Amino acid sequence: MPVVSSIALVACGKEGSPPVKGPQPDELPVHQVQSAFQLPDSPTWERAKKRGHLVVGAKEDQPYMGEKDPATGRYSGFDIEIAKMLSASLGFDPASISFRTIASANRETALQNGQIDYYVGTHTINDNRKKLVGFAGPYYMAGQSLLVRTDENDIHGPQDLDGKRVCSAAGSTPYQRIEKEYPKAELVAYDTYSVCVDNLLTFQVDAVTTDDSILLGYAAKVPDELEVLGTPFSQEPYGIGVPRSDNALRFALDDALAVHERNGDWRKAYDVTLGLSGVPAPQPPPIDRYPAS
Ligand code: GLU
Repeated sequence: MPVVSSIALVACGKEGSPPVKGPQPDELPVHQVQSAFQLPDSPTWERAKKRGHLVVGAKEDQPYMGEKDPATGRYSGFDIEIAKMLSASLGFDPASISFRTIASANRETALQNGQIDYYVGTHTINDNRKKLVGFAGPYYMAGQSLLVRTDENDIHGPQDLDGKRVCSAAGSTPYQRIEKEYPKAELVAYDTYSVCVDNLLTFQVDAVTTDDSILLGYAAKVPDELEVLGTPFSQEPYGIGVPRSDNALRFALDDALAVHERNGDWRKAYDVTLGLSGVPAPQPPPIDRYPAS
């Protein structure tokens, strides 16, 4: 396949970029809306109730996880399914969610400013971020990995990155890990991973680094040209970001997540999204219902 056509394929979100093969909207899990649900202690929930729907932050260029179809504006992926099942539990029709695309570097600010009610987009829970926002979950455990061209012979793991151009998203934990633990790598940052992938295909960078869950989606679009390398070298527990002071919302989301994990919804959502990568469904990680601070 000529390189030029593969760029068009991978340039996610652009016209003519087919989504990774996945289920049609009518094959996706449906969730019973808990219409009698109330959460008076949550200012975020109360505001959403007045508005009539939830505003949820997500990614739009991460196939399998969070991807926006440029033709229909519809979002799909594992994160999106998680956002929808939680919406139903909070008493809001998932079909009414207004999704907003927010890049990695802007997630905490978006929650702090009240631009979104919650955020579901490959958002790693860590202590630094917990100073700024709250996290329900985790709902999935990813791990940092590397994406390279299939013609790459030198890079087999992060130990081979010295002097190599490595691309990641600004403000992300994978970027920070390379900066700290592999200081001889030449780091390049963009707002999104899809721009990194375009740069990889055009030989502007030698590798893209972020979570395996994200990289698998890019590799699946052009399997002849891109591959995800070996064993992940970090643990990235994904949380649902909420405004930091809204403990009532955080606990309600933890409760809802536990219900959907028990009743099989989590598993179904995985199977029709990230599971299409061929990686069988793992057990979801234990929910960390940490105390209100
Ligand atoms: N999970 C990592 C993070 O939260 C990388 C993926 C992303 O940037 O969304 O920083």
